[in-house]
Amino acid sequence: MPAGGPGIDPVADEAFKKAELVGHHNEDFDAQAIRAKYLAERDKRLVAGRADIRDLDADATFAAYRKDPFTPVTEREPVIDDVEVVIVGSGIAGLLAGANLKKAGVEKIRIIDKAGGVGGTWYWNQYPGVMCDVESYIYLPMLEELGYVPSRRYAFGDEIRGHLEAIATRFDLKADALFHTGVLRAEWMEDRARWQVSTDRGDVISCRWYILAAGILNLMKLPVIPGMETFEGRSFHTARWDYDYTGGSVTEPLVKLAGKAVALIGTGATAIQCLAPLAESAEHVYAFQRTPSAIGVRGNRPTDPAFERTLKPNWQRDRMDNFQAIIQGLPVDTDLVDDGWTHHYALVHHPPREEGMTIKDYMRSAEEVDFRIMEAHRQRVADTVLDPATAEVLKPQYRYLCKRPCFHDEFLPVFNRPNVTLVDCPAGIERITPHGLVVDGKEYPVDLIVYATGFEPELTPLSRRIHHQLVGRHGVDLQTKFADGAQTLFGMLIRDFPNLFVMPAPIQQSVVTANYTQLAVLGGEFVGRMVGLLRQQDVEVFEVSAAAEEAWTKQIVDAFVSPGGVMAACTPSRVNNEGHPEDMKPRNGNFGGGFGDFFAYRELLDQWLDAGMFEGLEVTGPATTP
Ligand code: NDP
Repeated sequence: MPAGGPGIDPVADEAFKKAELVGHHNEDFDAQAIRAKYLAERDKRLVAGRADIRDLDADATFAAYRKDPFTPVTEREPVIDDVEVVIVGSGIAGLLAGANLKKAGVEKIRIIDKAGGVGGTWYWNQYPGVMCDVESYIYLPMLEELGYVPSRRYAFGDEIRGHLEAIATRFDLKADALFHTGVLRAEWMEDRARWQVSTDRGDVISCRWYILAAGILNLMKLPVIPGMETFEGRSFHTARWDYDYTGGSVTEPLVKLAGKAVALIGTGATAIQCLAPLAESAEHVYAFQRTPSAIGVRGNRPTDPAFERTLKPNWQRDRMDNFQAIIQGLPVDTDLVDDGWTHHYALVHHPPREEGMTIKDYMRSAEEVDFRIMEAHRQRVADTVLDPATAEVLKPQYRYLCKRPCFHDEFLPVFNRPNVTLVDCPAGIERITPHGLVVDGKEYPVDLIVYATGFEPELTPLSRRIHHQLVGRHGVDLQTKFADGAQTLFGMLIRDFPNLFVMPAPIQQSVVTANYTQLAVLGGEFVGRMVGLLRQQDVEVFEVSAAAEEAWTKQIVDAFVSPGGVMAACTPSRVNNEGHPEDMKPRNGNFGGGFGDFFAYRELLDQWLDAGMFEGLEVTGPATTP
């Protein structure tokens, strides 16, 4: 556990979390004044180029930031073969697809991944303090199947990666995997009814079923700050932590940072986890903050040994469902997870509506609920950070629903250390020099720059996220097909791309879940069951019918409600398309509108599979009626 301060009083935390947020009218709530304050803060950040991303493909200097620091690349001969399934990506979604395919009887599966091992985001993100802020009992997949109970309420990254390794081992997914391998192009070969997959290691692999599980946080984001390339010290991104340079490990002190000055850029979910370990070891840390995060209670604790004894069969699915129901604003008897997601996140997205309330009153009440939650966060900062000026700058001034919330107990107290300086830069960092970073004309000299600047957003089109060219029937390219937004059946199958599965993800016509694993479980089970059925019925090729794709896409478009006013007033972030919610494409919406209705979606997929008729698909091969 990374140290970094005394932590926060757990009794106060409980009060913070359970604060009576509804039903009281807060005298401090002056809607006009708070709106004006939020807009003024937004405007400081709405600067041209704020969301610019460095194109790592186009620039060799910056492409080096992608290099794998964890596993040496070994030479190997190109692989030329034919398998039943190729899966691109060995993160949670890819592994779950693989596990379910194995269960369906598929023997020959080749996973292809640019990383040196399995884990996806948990392979790459090995920065100090890395952990998941979604409860581990619902986040780590297949716990019941593997008979595993995580050691803590919120697991560290190495435990999560270890568990994903265990899944890969249990389902024998590693022996045929090709690591440190990037797909360059995949093309449907009509004459052979196969996908042909070419890689950057000279491999040419054909397969019957092609599965894209590239993930949503797979494209590392380096910002565009003038002069970055001139910096003469060491610099890296948190998704490629260089322990050779810093010393230590995810949980051990970074001993080689003694005597060194470090700049940490960013204050998102990643940065807040790695600041305390940096501050423990470095001589000085400058934390460059563009927008403060709303940092709620994490309340981590070791798993109570009694917990395991309470678990009944199917407990993990029930627990995931309980969490998701609360997030969707559905009534439940008990809040099993009982954390900031189920308290604050769920509440701002589904504020209670009293009988007889007009829409206007309801909107105002929603605004007040949000304000009270944000006030609790701001108060937490004031109660924790001793220097009032620093505390003021750390207070988030926007609506809670404007940005992905964060949860941590050691980040805020770090600012009480004499070796930590907060550098406020709402408009971004002015420039980087050979020796440091410049904000408001002042240079901060450092030895190391850590970019905790995140990933290309979920709104990045699928064709870019898969990072290879995908060519289907009649030469149709995915990028062209999705030029005006997604067109799919179920958010997973695409016309003109036969025998292709795309794991469900945001902006792809499926649904969004706060616990990503739950969506990956659904996608993995769908792929396993569907391929099982296709094999049973000797189907060689399936293709989505034009009518089915049109109907699904129409349903998505009809349910799409422009996030409009509330989001436009938000501080720019990934959630509101960096200040331009109006550019969100209706076709990239979710099933049921908004973030989507997970339960209706799962029910629909189950019924479709149960019917076993492949309605909406054109199938060829010796298919028989089940
Ligand atoms: P984020 O995109 O959330 O944060 C990036 C940070 O870098 C922000 O503070 C951002 O500022 C700042 N930044 C970006 N560009 C610049 C720039 N040019 N100048 C100055 N600052 C800049 O990335 P994270 O890696 O923190 O998180 C990404 C996602 O990963 C999370 O949303 C979450 O889904 C996942 N994650 C989950 C964790 C978990 O515990 N479950 C832990 C870590 C990550 P600004 O806010 O102004 O844009």
